[in-house]
Amino acid sequence: MSYSYEAPVSQALFDRASRVTPGGVNSPVRAFQAVGGTPRFMVSGTGPYLTDADGREYVDLVCSWGPMILGHAHPEVVAAVQDAVARGTSFGTPGEGEVALAEEITARVAPVEQVRLVSSGTEATMSAIRLARGYTGRAKVVKFAGCYHGHVDALLAAAGSGLATFALPDTPGVTGAQAGDTIVLPYNDLDAVRAAFAAHPGEIACVITEASPGNMGVVPPGEGFNAGLKEICATGGALYISDEVMTGFRTSKAGWYGVDGVRPDLMTFGKVMGGGFPAAAFGGRADVMAQLAPAGPVYQAGTLSGNPVATAAGLAQLRLLDDAAYARVDAVSAEIRTLVGEALTKEGVAHTVSAASNMFSVFFTDRPVRDYEDARKQEAFRYTAFFHSMLEQGVYLPPSAFESWFVSTAHDAGAVERIAAALPAAARAASEATA
Ligand code: PLP
Repeated sequence: MSYSYEAPVSQALFDRASRVTPGGVNSPVRAFQAVGGTPRFMVSGTGPYLTDADGREYVDLVCSWGPMILGHAHPEVVAAVQDAVARGTSFGTPGEGEVALAEEITARVAPVEQVRLVSSGTEATMSAIRLARGYTGRAKVVKFAGCYHGHVDALLAAAGSGLATFALPDTPGVTGAQAGDTIVLPYNDLDAVRAAFAAHPGEIACVITEASPGNMGVVPPGEGFNAGLKEICATGGALYISDEVMTGFRTSKAGWYGVDGVRPDLMTFGKVMGGGFPAAAFGGRADVMAQLAPAGPVYQAGTLSGNPVATAAGLAQLRLLDDAAYARVDAVSAEIRTLVGEALTKEGVAHTVSAASNMFSVFFTDRPVRDYEDARKQEAFRYTAFFHSMLEQGVYLPPSAFESWFVSTAHDAGAVERIAAALPAAARAASEATA
């Protein structure tokens, strides 16, 4: 596929980057491999807009893959960061900012009685699983196909179909030993979970699930799915870990827990709680968290954990996220979903706009999407055409058909108008696309 528009400065930067960095990017999802073309190198962001190195402005519907829920360079977050930076950037000692952020998290999310700060979502899920194994004295972990929990060795495992299949490593570098205790099951299938517990009595340490998945596109849990997981875990002596790295403090004040009220044993957070800086966390039941060093024997640590600049950014962002902010994000998300649906319908493009609170994505299929298998059946080639048309018209979408779109409180009428103006041509491009 060739593109009628060019980005010479981004192209030159990408060429330079590719010489010194594998694939030219520091996280694979930033490359345009799924959609083709040159990734845009961004130089600045303000509110709902990003500006690339070629001087083009985009309405940003990625929001750094979730964190920027107040938009870019929110003045109060920037001020909090400047204030923190001026006082020093890392001490390697405890500080009050960490306490305040932990208090903010525990106040918002009732199941989190105690919390430990880390620097990335990957660290959070890796540590939560270690803790679950240490607490239960069991080895096996259940995860769901299509759920992403960071690049933790044990969680990169995938499995063939069938119940309670022992996973094979999904990527070179993950050994059978690291992946062998991972059981991968189809999402939204409680019978598969029951069968796994029946096949491995007394062996399963935890079930980890995205609270509402956004990493296979947005595929919300079916009615009663999370509650069912919780019950099966409780009966089977395993911990229920809800990964809220993406949904936490985004889908409501208390994240997805605030939506479905199912009480996990452990939870993981990242993205929004860092205000655009590397801050993440895991937390939950006090008796489980008490097993963590130095209170208990399960080791976990980090030189930059609870970094004063990151915690200042996160705290400033969370304090601005009141009911009105969530109402605003929910409303703008609904508005954009409607516009996208109308444009695609007008061009006769089969699609499903799938939403979980203000997270949403567009599947190019009109069949229901309940799990990863369903998601993969969409006509992803239509997304490629749609994506490039939107990009050319100044709207930055995730460069993959299997990702959530994100909006912010800064997406105002002007930003929505630009999206609305771009949609008819993009919908036409999707309808004319060929595999
Ligand atoms: N868990 C979920 C649900 C995620 O969406 C992600 C990242 O996208 C992670 C964990 C990993 O977080 P990080 O990229 O900060 O390591």
